[in-house]
Amino acid sequence: MLYLAENKIIVVVGIAGVGKTTLVKKLAEIIEAHNKSVNVTNFGTIMFEVAKENGLQNRDELRKLPISEQKKLQKNTAEKLSKINDDVIIIDTHAFIRTLEGFNPGLPYHVLQIIEPTHFIIVTAKTEEIYNRRMRDETRSRDKVSITTIKKELDIQSAMMSACAILSGSPLIQVQNNEGKLEEAANKIIKAIGV
Ligand code: AMP
Ligand code: MG
Repeated sequence: MLYLAENKIIVVVGIAGVGKTTLVKKLAEIIEAHNKSVNVTNFGTIMFEVAKENGLQNRDELRKLPISEQKKLQKNTAEKLSKINDDVIIIDTHAFIRTLEGFNPGLPYHVLQIIEPTHFIIVTAKTEEIYNRRMRDETRSRDKVSITTIKKELDIQSAMMSACAILSGSPLIQVQNNEGKLEEAANKIIKAIGV
């Protein structure tokens, strides 16, 4: 039996401060070095591009929109992502978004059905590292939080991602992106996705 190589659609999630964006860049470099075409997209950036047309000024305002609006933007973004055709598609996003109405899933069932992820990656780090990285980030209007809040966010993230794996039937791995261990974290992911 002949197995055709199919696109790998890798959804990478992580709470603010885990170093997700840096890790995703590293992953793309490694995949390109394997002569595979790779596309890296930040889900929030696509959502923001559409929302900007409707007057939104800052990406950190996205999570303050009514859920009904965020839902439409998520669907629209998922549809755009589903049209990308590269060997490896990496989607940089979140398991949940802290909204005024509660923790909103970043990957609700309707989005999963459009994107059809093949792998889920949770990027995490030591709680203290996450806390320190968040404190240092002046570029974003992020909510300032405590260590306890970070621990809670990590719990909610695992619950949300278990549901994603079950609904999609696709595997999930959790990778530690500890200080100075970027390369190690990237290689673990490459091994899991089989590039
Ligand atoms: P980021 O730059 O990755 O922190 O994303 C910026 C913003 O985009 C987030 O704070 C959310 O408001 C929004 N966003 C990103 N991914 C999703 C998603 N999957 N579903 C809903 N909103 C998202
Ligand atoms: Mg980021």
